[in-house]
Amino acid sequence: MKTGKTLYFDYQASTPVDPRVFEAMAPYFGGCFANPHSADHAAGWRAAQGVESAGAQVAALIGADSDEIVFTSGATESNSLALLGLSRRAAGRNRNRILVSAIEHKSVLAAARAAREQLGYEIGCIPVDRQGRVEVSALEQMLGDDVLCVSVMAVNNEIGTIQDVERISEIMRSSGAVFHCDGAQAPPAIDLKNIVDCVDLLSLSGHKMYGPQGIGALFVRRSLQDQIEPLIYGGGQQHGLRSGTAPVPLCVGMGAAAELLASKAAVDEREELRGRMDRFVEGLNARKWAVALNSPEGLERHPGNANMRFEGFLASDVLGALQPALAASTGSACTSGIPEPSHVLRAIGLSEAEAESSIRFSIGRGTTDADVDEALGLVDGALSRIADQNLAQRA
Ligand code: PMP
Repeated sequence: MKTGKTLYFDYQASTPVDPRVFEAMAPYFGGCFANPHSADHAAGWRAAQGVESAGAQVAALIGADSDEIVFTSGATESNSLALLGLSRRAAGRNRNRILVSAIEHKSVLAAARAAREQLGYEIGCIPVDRQGRVEVSALEQMLGDDVLCVSVMAVNNEIGTIQDVERISEIMRSSGAVFHCDGAQAPPAIDLKNIVDCVDLLSLSGHKMYGPQGIGALFVRRSLQDQIEPLIYGGGQQHGLRSGTAPVPLCVGMGAAAELLASKAAVDEREELRGRMDRFVEGLNARKWAVALNSPEGLERHPGNANMRFEGFLASDVLGALQPALAASTGSACTSGIPEPSHVLRAIGLSEAEAESSIRFSIGRGTTDADVDEALGLVDGALSRIADQNLAQRA
């Protein structure tokens, strides 16, 4: 898939809106524009119906009930609502520790840090192995009756590791801690229909699942709904957990996206994607460059993800040389304009230099075999140009 002249290999950063999703949203920008919380007229009821159906579609994707879905602005807000909402309500009681895995998204790590700085919680970091899987024995040792919450993501955004959420939930069960799972990257990667049997809170993001940007959801188990302090106060919408007018077209879009991903077609789509990404990784391996896969092999990673290391090259140089032809991304996050090596790649044991030579490629709905072949040629060309320049500089 191309965006303008750019071949798009960055689906884990944002997915395109599926045309069927766009179509479902359209009426809610036009004829059905009313405030869904206007209870006095039929136009409001129709808008409310749109939000309700969307909640049911998101709930069906994960096996929840629709009154357990809270729409937010995205997974960042969902993660904050889960961790800060829970820790604010429980502050000053006997559970004063929060455990997070070492490879969580910054929105989880930053929310946990805020709970420490503002409310005095102690944060424990659960180590992961070389594949990015949580060290289960370490988690077992860290658990105790003073742990309020454990946050482990379902699918990693940089290396695509699929976490054994069921096993983690079994280990946690007797501790009485709440299990929060950041599922932002999960819908295109894994079947989620039984996930709420394992987790208490689950974050989702519209624009990682072929829905629109600016919408997300938090599943909040019914029995926990009075244990979360809202982040936003107002009219008490969405069980008081997230006040403010629900953005009807965005909710409808997220619902339509969820329905597509809950279908049988999504299963086939994952298989196709896996084949295509394998072809890309094999293609890179077959060329003359020293490349290595940072992501787990086979079924243990997001089918559309490959985080590759290019020995002797800086990822930023390679990505620069690929512009504007190919969009992919480094594992590094840019904080206040200062690039830092990815905490995920460091946590799985890579050196700073290895982390700085790593690129995340991610494909999805709309990527073709021809795109894969074209991308291989583009990467090859970029590496050749950089190698030639380096040689010329040394000569
Ligand atoms: N968690 C994970 C794992 C993510 O990949 C992202 C998006 N990069 C987020 C949370 C934040 O999602 P959003 O953009 O919807 O706020």
